[in-house]
Amino acid sequence: MLGTAPTVPVPPMATGDDRAAVRRPGAAATEPPSYWDAIEPLLTDVKKPAQYVGGEHNQQVSTWTDAQTRWLLCYPDTYEVGQPNQGIQILYEILNERATALAERCYAPWVDLEPLMRERGIPTFSLEAHRPAWAFDVFGVTLPHELGHTNLLNLLDLGGVPHRTADRSIDDPLVLVGGHAAYNPEPLAPFIDAAIMGDGEQVTVEVDDVVRVFKAEREPGGALAELADEDARHRLMRRLAAVEGVYVPAFYTPKYHEDGRLKRTVPNESGVPSLVPKRTIQDLEEWPYPQRQIVPMTETVHERFSVEIFRGCTRGCRFCQAGMITRPVRERRPETINRLVEEGVKDTGFNEVGLLSLSSADHSAIGPVARDLADTYEGTTTSLSLPSTRVDAFNVTLSNELARNGRRTGLTFAPEAGSERMRAVINKMVSEEDLLRTAETAFSEGWRQIKLYFMIGLPTEEDEDVLAIADLGIKTYGIARKYGKANKVTISVGGFVPKPHTPFQWAAQDSPEEIKRKLAMIRHRIKDHGGLKLRTNDPEEGVIEGLLARGDRRVAAAVERAWQLGARFDGWHEMPTLETWRQAMAETGVDLAWFSYRERDENEALPWDHLDSGLEKGWLWEDWQDAQSDQQLDDCRWSPCYDCGVCPGLSIEHDTGYTGGFQLPVLPSNLGGSESLPTTPERYASSDG
Ligand code: SF4
Repeated sequence: MLGTAPTVPVPPMATGDDRAAVRRPGAAATEPPSYWDAIEPLLTDVKKPAQYVGGEHNQQVSTWTDAQTRWLLCYPDTYEVGQPNQGIQILYEILNERATALAERCYAPWVDLEPLMRERGIPTFSLEAHRPAWAFDVFGVTLPHELGHTNLLNLLDLGGVPHRTADRSIDDPLVLVGGHAAYNPEPLAPFIDAAIMGDGEQVTVEVDDVVRVFKAEREPGGALAELADEDARHRLMRRLAAVEGVYVPAFYTPKYHEDGRLKRTVPNESGVPSLVPKRTIQDLEEWPYPQRQIVPMTETVHERFSVEIFRGCTRGCRFCQAGMITRPVRERRPETINRLVEEGVKDTGFNEVGLLSLSSADHSAIGPVARDLADTYEGTTTSLSLPSTRVDAFNVTLSNELARNGRRTGLTFAPEAGSERMRAVINKMVSEEDLLRTAETAFSEGWRQIKLYFMIGLPTEEDEDVLAIADLGIKTYGIARKYGKANKVTISVGGFVPKPHTPFQWAAQDSPEEIKRKLAMIRHRIKDHGGLKLRTNDPEEGVIEGLLARGDRRVAAAVERAWQLGARFDGWHEMPTLETWRQAMAETGVDLAWFSYRERDENEALPWDHLDSGLEKGWLWEDWQDAQSDQQLDDCRWSPCYDCGVCPGLSIEHDTGYTGGFQLPVLPSNLGGSESLPTTPERYASSDG
């Protein structure tokens, strides 16, 4: 698409010495150009132009020549999706608080802007000062899932950064990735310099120090000044690999059996660990971020002030990668939560507060926290939300508390599977009785709508398990109708994608055809229940995600080819890229069925075996066996430790709460205040006994 905007002079893409000059530390650097004058005229020709403008409240624009290190923090999707990402906001604030560092953000330009940028020679740019990506020391990308991989390559290429690591020089940025998908970065191995595993706060500071010291040593008269560029880059990579939690793929080689299975991935560089550990911060209180949250300029997927109330989850849902890799549970103190919310709402003007975590109702003091916040904001326009909740009556009580300011509209629960047996397989310990009682409580207390989330394609699933989803929806809808003809129930069904570092990492994924067949069964079963709504994901949605989640280094060829063939925004319905991917897989010899639709056996090496999420592989295998015999495992917050491996690696004996004691379970009954909760040791004793 050609733009109608007038052509303005565009600063040239710098090469060689010019790049080196821009990247020198502090006052020795020359300022990189701003591309704003070239970008602005294009904005009349693209959708949602405000996403490219910057200038948000709490953004930070620092002077280039005041900084020793400069980071471009990137989310490989649009501003609308990426702006609320807490990971980026946390690192942005931590880096910008350092006197020697500067951090700016970038997002993927939508498909209407990219061709205009390429046509005019405008590189990937930062939002704050519209500086080019190639000028930064670090191009840090967060990967919350696998569907941003082609966008990552595109952002690099568009930003004047060679997309292959082997083609980068010492004058190019380091390309680092973090986030959940970085726990298997093998499909990105040829494109990234390093993956950061685990909590990013502390390790980012350490990486920043490595880069700062290295740059200083490269300056005239410095210890590394005379080193050849190639040797210097190798030295830098070695220093990065020495930081705990940093994995440098170029220092490891995968070996394969003749039949194509992976034998193992081994170091090819002396001194690097054969098992790369994840990074864990043990006390969230030491990292109370982000405090000055950026207020978006335009519509985004979440517009609220968010506070992470705890990190980690030990409920043990076997499909849940986030729950597994973020263990153990670490809570924020109630007084810190209250302070962050109070100061944040005042500063940002958001009128919604989200109390975030993987299962927010499980914070041991959630009752008092919710009550205090509800008291504070009663009678104001500020509403409170708890995005991740469990299926039990306690949640209704809690939601009533949080909804004091507003109408009781909708509640969302995630039973995940329809039959009791299937919920035992996935270790989602909720009975049908619990769910129906919860629905009864909610509708009787004035809630008007319930959404239920389910997955299909789970291991051991039979057709009767699939139909049980429809039946549970029908029963819930029957309860809804008792309390009001306009009450609604929606069942939302998506296909399961097995993920690394979970007990289901060995499982076969269902093909899109099988997912379609199962969805048709559900649709048929509910056809006579007109008020019960069914929402489904595209059955083909999981194909690319599944391949990239468990792919090995050979899949990188397909990622690169798919990007070259035009794949972008692989998670978007508007961008059906599957045919492009199928062509890329065919051209590169990547067999989708072999990578995704095949169950692995115990002895097969997995592409992420050399990356340590803290969980023992033996424990994951045992849990996989338990799943297949419908055995459930209790949450270790209120049962004895079952030795998943995480806590000994952190030199702690058990998953502990902010009090230093065991995390308290919340009780599935009316809350009534903190006095209704037993003290930690008592509770633990009663569970144990
Ligand atoms: S090591 Fe034990 S206490 Fe710690 S997270 Fe694993 S099961 Fe829970």
